[in-house]
Amino acid sequence: MIDLHTHTNESDGSSSPEELIDQALAIGLEAMAICDHDTFAGYDQALPVAKARGLDLVCGIELSTRLVGKTERAVHLLGYFLHEPPPAAFRAWLNEIQEERRDRNRRLVAKLKSAGVEIELAEVEALGRSLTGRPHFARVLVRKGYAANSDEAFEKYLDEAAPYYVERESPSVSAGIEKVLSAGGLPVLAHPVRLAIRDPIREEMLIGEMQAWGLGGIEVFHSDHRPADVARYAKIATEHRMAVSGGSDFHGEAKPQIALGTGVNNNLKIPRSVLDCLRQISTSRAR
Ligand code: AMP
Ligand code: FE
Ligand code: FE
Ligand code: ZN
Repeated sequence: MIDLHTHTNESDGSSSPEELIDQALAIGLEAMAICDHDTFAGYDQALPVAKARGLDLVCGIELSTRLVGKTERAVHLLGYFLHEPPPAAFRAWLNEIQEERRDRNRRLVAKLKSAGVEIELAEVEALGRSLTGRPHFARVLVRKGYAANSDEAFEKYLDEAAPYYVERESPSVSAGIEKVLSAGGLPVLAHPVRLAIRDPIREEMLIGEMQAWGLGGIEVFHSDHRPADVARYAKIATEHRMAVSGGSDFHGEAKPQIALGTGVNNNLKIPRSVLDCLRQISTSRAR
């Protein structure tokens, strides 16, 4: 069993990189990828630990991009097998993205404060490490009694439909794909079910469009995917000759319903062969 989508506390997970390696070894994972949002800080710390303790650790990243169109959509893009170590130009680009998130955070605090919410940027940033994002805002809002739980904090204050929502500059999907490719990586569409496109024909057309931009694979196996979703995305991957990936999207205590390796209510058991195929496709595309 493998898990190719996990988060550490360097983004919005709760396990430190070292704890995550130990959790992976404890449940007998044969390989794991760390795909923190917009940072390699977790992977960088985990790599020497994984080497010393004998876990096959894959370099990954999860980029928040946006699909520009009639209705703008957030699209999460995974990147695997970037050049080792990840190139300086790519890291510099991630720094720009982080600066845009910091700018959004400052504006979000101002907007919440003007609505009478007592919140300071420093107390939110104290929860984040490399990255402070909306999940950290949710924790502060819950702690201070503005919301009963994280879901309610998003609903009332933080998500796209909430009155205090503040937009963040983020790269387009095509720019994200291009950056991953130029760093030697394989771009993979994360949890496609979250695109929330009801019509399967439109969904497949959109994935086809992203493939034309250089998308190389689809995250077919994911905690949010029901068996019918897995079947649909596996079929699209086969027909479009795209790679198949899979992971739980483990965030530790931040999303307690998701278990490392096995997903939600044991809905995942991803075989090692998925990683072998993914690697093979990445290598053959790079030639
Ligand atoms: P940010 O990148 O700082 O805007 O935060 C985005 C992160 O917040 C995503 O990666 C999710 O983990 C989380 N998130 C976004 N929307 C929701 C939601 N409606 N409920 C819970 N978590 C969310
Ligand atoms: Fe996340
Ligand atoms: Fe995601
Ligand atoms: Zn994720």
